[in-house]
Amino acid sequence: MKENFKKNDLVTLKITDLGSSGEGIGKVDGFTLFVKDALIGDVVQAKIIKLKKNYGYGRLMEIVTPSPARVEARCPKARACGGCQIQPLDYEKQLEYKENKVGGLLERVGKIRDYVMEPIIGMEEPWHYRNKAQFPVGKDKDGKIITGFYAGRTHSIVPLDKCFIQHPLNEQIMSIVQRWMEEFNISSYDEVSHKGLVRHIFTRIGKYTGEVMVCLVINGKKIPKEAELIERLKQIPGIKSICLNVNRENTNVILGKDIQCLWGQPYITDKIGEISYRISPLSFFQVNPIQTQKLYATALEYAGLTGKETVWDLYCGIGTISLFLAQAAKKVYGVEIVPEAIRDAQENARLNHIENAEFFVGKAEEVLPEQYEKNGVYADVIVVDPPRKGCDEKLLACMVQMAPETIVYVSCDPATLARDLNYLSNHGYKVEKVRCTDMFPHSVHVETVVLLSHKSPDSHINATIINIG
Ligand code: SAH
Repeated sequence: MKENFKKNDLVTLKITDLGSSGEGIGKVDGFTLFVKDALIGDVVQAKIIKLKKNYGYGRLMEIVTPSPARVEARCPKARACGGCQIQPLDYEKQLEYKENKVGGLLERVGKIRDYVMEPIIGMEEPWHYRNKAQFPVGKDKDGKIITGFYAGRTHSIVPLDKCFIQHPLNEQIMSIVQRWMEEFNISSYDEVSHKGLVRHIFTRIGKYTGEVMVCLVINGKKIPKEAELIERLKQIPGIKSICLNVNRENTNVILGKDIQCLWGQPYITDKIGEISYRISPLSFFQVNPIQTQKLYATALEYAGLTGKETVWDLYCGIGTISLFLAQAAKKVYGVEIVPEAIRDAQENARLNHIENAEFFVGKAEEVLPEQYEKNGVYADVIVVDPPRKGCDEKLLACMVQMAPETIVYVSCDPATLARDLNYLSNHGYKVEKVRCTDMFPHSVHVETVVLLSHKSPDSHINATIINIG
């Protein structure tokens, strides 16, 4: 009961669950408390900081008895940083937590039962896995230039010289930029006054090619002492691209729309399996290349291709999944909203001598219905890989109308996945198999691939006849 507690009360409780952001959940006298940084199995002392009608929030004050699943975080800044919410949880338990989270949402939100949950695919070495970094640049209270990360849910920068999930080369890149700024008195951007030049250091590093891109995000059109910066960054092993990204908006979106290439080429190349991909600063590319290969292998397996199929890959980015599938399908159509990504997708198809892939720029929920209504396009398999907000209902409705035999849903947000699966399972599809992949070790995020099949293959033929008629 809420009445039994007041703000600033100290309580002791056992954490019995983890919430969707990795926060510990436990009960005191039947009253639910959320305690950030507490892990499942911990007994903790917490100070009540907020009370709602049926639950409250506590601040972790002391771990009275640590959970047997608790390990020492490798990164000393793990608690201050918003990135690795569950680093102190044993990796096997992290995987268990993620799989349970997906299963729970599918059951509660999706009302999905009676399917096969295949074991989650974890990493053998869950460190230094990211191929993309974006470090904010600012000043500390003594006016010294710092780079690092935003403290969880804030916009104050915590300086950082080492990140355990990033490529170690980032340390060298950050230090070069920092020293260049100090030496030539180049200002850092200040969010409050909207003044100052350098906002972020953005990097991409190809896992298999070792190619490196450094892109400075600036609140301006050009940088002073450009030649000096280029000269120093050229020392980085594997450097292929030095770019500027212009972002003069008063926003917390990191990248602006304009890219200027200062040196080298405006992209890097990396590989997934046999396919090479050209990646520009603005294109979406999965951040964990080792796990991406496993994720796409699951998507490919679920697509069940024999070489005769027509496949639509919606939300295709730079054509990553499309080209992976094109190797085993008759024809693949990709749809993506970012024009630069589609340009990369076309270039990637050419680079890999893939001739059975075609790409459309636009919103999936507009392009597919338009193509279906105007040109009566057909699909044996539809793959969707939407951003966190999931698929637009207009798109789901069109997919149901097109009635492909197989739908493969690749998702980065299990809550919207569950919502969309509920729709599809109410409109003629059965969820057959689900498999999670851990793309983001130590964070609460999880990627899921789902195989859906049409409940009655006949209705697909009917739908086609009705359409022609
Ligand atoms: N399948 C790709 C990209 C997945 S991320 C890969 O695995 O790399 C989701 C992609 O959807 C992003 O590239 C984003 O730009 C794109 N996107 C977002 N909203 C969209 C929409 N309404 N229609 C089509 N693409 C969209």
